[in-house]
Amino acid sequence: MATITLTFDNGPEPDVTPGVLDTLARHDLKATFFVIGEKLAMPGRRALSERAAAEGHWIGNHTWTHSVPLGQREDGDGAEAEVGRTQAELGALAHPDRFFRPFGGGGHIGPLLLNQPVVAHLTQGAYSCVLWNAIPRDFADPDGWVETALGQCAAQDWTLIVLHDLPKGAGRHLDTFLHRAKDAGHGFRQEFPDACVPIRRGDIQVPLDGIVSHREA
Ligand SMILES: [Zn+2]
Repeated sequence: MATITLTFDNGPEPDVTPGVLDTLARHDLKATFFVIGEKLAMPGRRALSERAAAEGHWIGNHTWTHSVPLGQREDGDGAEAEVGRTQAELGALAHPDRFFRPFGGGGHIGPLLLNQPVVAHLTQGAYSCVLWNAIPRDFADPDGWVETALGQCAAQDWTLIVLHDLPKGAGRHLDTFLHRAKDAGHGFRQEFPDACVPIRRGDIQVPLDGIVSHREA
């Protein structure tokens, strides 16, 4: 028996997010949606995140373009262009703890996630930086990720899992995953485990050396 925290990244997507919300509602579970700013700004999409928030889910910031990982940007920055701009677009949709999740190619945790100006932006802006400890790669393995995820959840006490409300993401088998996780005796929490939150409300919790690029702009 273990605890699972569900997060869905890279939406909102009109063909996927509503189904994910329906499934979560049927299971009476709350999650967090880390949205991409430029998607949120597209016509019709904000309503999807407004529905999620109205149903008790938390909404976080997942950069404006989700293009180059912040630690690999040529300009060594991106604080305003990727993080600040998305937070402004979120407006009242944002959780008060100002959740921000960086990204790395395929979920890799390393110095590619952040850079110094972004860390300064996060601490000065009282953001909470939310990482993860399980990536079952639903986007690459839309049928097989359920087994991968169940194995990851069984292997640790508290799993913060990254899924995606994308057309190739977790939507189709989410119901199966949730049933099987419950059958395995796992419980669910909306909160994040401390080990996955290196910055909480602007306060740095652990040395960030491993997740911040030190390359000069
Ligand atoms: Zn992402």
